Amino acid sequence: MNIEHGPLCRLFPGKVLDFTTLRGSHDASDPYSGFSVCGYTGDRAEHYLGCRAALAADLGINDPQAIIQPRQVHGDKIAMLDDAFRTLDLQGQEKLLDGTDGTITARRQVAIGINTADCVPILLYSYQGTQLVAAIHAGWRGTLAGIAAKAVRQMVQAGARKIAAYIGVSICRQCFEVGDEVAEAFASAGLGGEIISRNKVTGKAHIDLQAANRHQLAGCGIAPEMIFTDGRCSRHDASGNYFSARRIGVHSGRTFTGIMLL
Ligand SMILES: [Zn+2]
Repeated sequence: MNIEHGPLCRLFPGKVLDFTTLRGSHDASDPYSGFSVCGYTGDRAEHYLGCRAALAADLGINDPQAIIQPRQVHGDKIAMLDDAFRTLDLQGQEKLLDGTDGTITARRQVAIGINTADCVPILLYSYQGTQLVAAIHAGWRGTLAGIAAKAVRQMVQAGARKIAAYIGVSICRQCFEVGDEVAEAFASAGLGGEIISRNKVTGKAHIDLQAANRHQLAGCGIAPEMIFTDGRCSRHDASGNYFSARRIGVHSGRTFTGIMLL
């Protein structure tokens, strides 16, 4: 197995499967070495396609085409993967997913997910009303744009009644130093208070992106006890299982955090 399971499949067994890929054994001198399914950060196709096939097998879907990954751009566009999406050919699907930072679907046995290396992956599952799952990429720009709340609104419009959320492995406050202009933008967007702090030694601003997203999810009606924050930091976690752009560079593999309706 190249994945670890998340909290949603433990809470809703037989309904949904949430997972995070694990880099596993790798050569530390090669930033792409280890398990990574991301195809647009410079990795060799033979490597990431092999990993995709292995991930499909781990998920029991045996079809790498049923693993859907947007080509993320730190924006706030979210694609609804409905029956019309299914009728597109591969090129058409890729075009629709280009420049997209989140996906929502009601389709079963289709794994949607997000590639990250420090940014925050967010998974959503509506456990009452229309059954839907969403996978959202929230770096600091996406967080400022309120992409998680936008996904919740789209799910509610599509019939979701109650939603549970998982905020995955991502950079922690201590590791996430930002410029003053970013801190000011967060404060102006109502994401100040405990979300922003100052390092007492360097005086630099630090942002808690996980807390910012928790705040936004709670602000759009998700019960706080249904928001599960992983809390582990991609950059300083000692296991070596998560890719981190701040630790190993932008030209590297990615951690894929995904969700699938069963
Ligand atoms: Zn950290």
